[in-house]
Amino acid sequence: MDDRGEETNVIKRVGVIGGGQLAWMMAAAAKKLGVELIVQTPSCDDPAVSIATRTILAAIDDATATAELATLCDVITFENEFVNLDALSQLAGQGICFRPSLDALKPLLDKYHQRCCLRDLGLPTPQFVALEAVRSQTTEGKSTSTLKPQTPPTFSFPIVLKTRRHGYDGQGTFIVKDAQELEAALSRLEDTPLLVEAFVPFERELAAIAARSTTGEVVIYPIVETQQEQQVCRRVFAPAAISAAIVAEVEAIVHTLLSSLEVVGLFGIELFLTVEGKVLVNEIAPRTHNSGHFTLDACETSQFEQQLRAVCGLPLGNPAMQVPGAVMVNLLGYEESQSDYQEKRQQLAAVSNAHVYWYDKAESHPGRKLGHVTVLLEKEQCGRELASAIEFIWYGS
Ligand code: ADP
Repeated sequence: MDDRGEETNVIKRVGVIGGGQLAWMMAAAAKKLGVELIVQTPSCDDPAVSIATRTILAAIDDATATAELATLCDVITFENEFVNLDALSQLAGQGICFRPSLDALKPLLDKYHQRCCLRDLGLPTPQFVALEAVRSQTTEGKSTSTLKPQTPPTFSFPIVLKTRRHGYDGQGTFIVKDAQELEAALSRLEDTPLLVEAFVPFERELAAIAARSTTGEVVIYPIVETQQEQQVCRRVFAPAAISAAIVAEVEAIVHTLLSSLEVVGLFGIELFLTVEGKVLVNEIAPRTHNSGHFTLDACETSQFEQQLRAVCGLPLGNPAMQVPGAVMVNLLGYEESQSDYQEKRQQLAAVSNAHVYWYDKAESHPGRKLGHVTVLLEKEQCGRELASAIEFIWYGS
């Protein structure tokens, strides 16, 4: 790269740490851009193995494997955030190019650090406090440890307890109503580092998908509404039915975030919109995001192409929607099974303007993301009714 930030070498080989569905969905964009994907992932059953030019079979946080990955590609990006930053720092020190950079990722991998980062940037986020293990001695001289807030929280029940790392799809997020529930949760979680935050009685949840290029250009997709059940995303409506003022507020937050962290890559940012019309950032995912799957079919440039464009030093693509609206429904597992649900998939594909994605996972477990469906909407079509119809086909109720 030269000192104006423009790419002097053409990047044609991209290493991806993580081989789940997010890496799998990069395939069409990689083909379009003439880019090879080399994937590091633990199992040969992982979705992206089938589309990778080459796979390094190793754990996500195995930095020795990442060193090998680096010999096969020009740049390394991420499909999840469960990396070992300390180990990767040594590789970065040897000149290996990570996009986003490890410096940009550093404040984001731990939910407590992420909240501190947002606060330090002056961005709105729920009130929060970390829990620390406080060691003490019993009268018999035995050492015990109790989790205590670092500072007394200024908020009260209900609260939200979150594991600081490795949480996803609501695993690691617990809504706690009272002291009794808190005690039970703490004893279950034992020594896990935790974050406590105020429960936000949101009116709805929003998400923004945005990319920043090597030259500092930022593009933001239309803001969407996401709906979660038991902390797991069930459906996404694009665009969100919100005022221009809220859109502008969200976009300003996203600009500040990506520019301050000097991100090169694509991020998903989850937000709460309160009844009073206040916007709060819930979570930053430093990678492609479930709430951006609609872009595959509804936008000129998908989030996956945009990620590749950003990390390859190419100009960013147009994020605008090509249709009046879209609804995306996750196909979550609802039983233990090895079925490929052929019949249901055929019924889903028969829905007018539906695009079905099936991640070809070997097994279904309740709550596991097995695929998704995006339906492109015509002008007056109701996204909510379509989402219900899709869910009726999939879950049968
Ligand atoms: P994960 O990393 O597992 O996706 P999140 O922090 O995004 O966890 O939480 C998952 C969901 O839990 C959110 O989309 C939201 O519905 C709910 N949630 C999380 N934090 C709060 C909060 N502070 N107040 C209210 N609901 C919350």
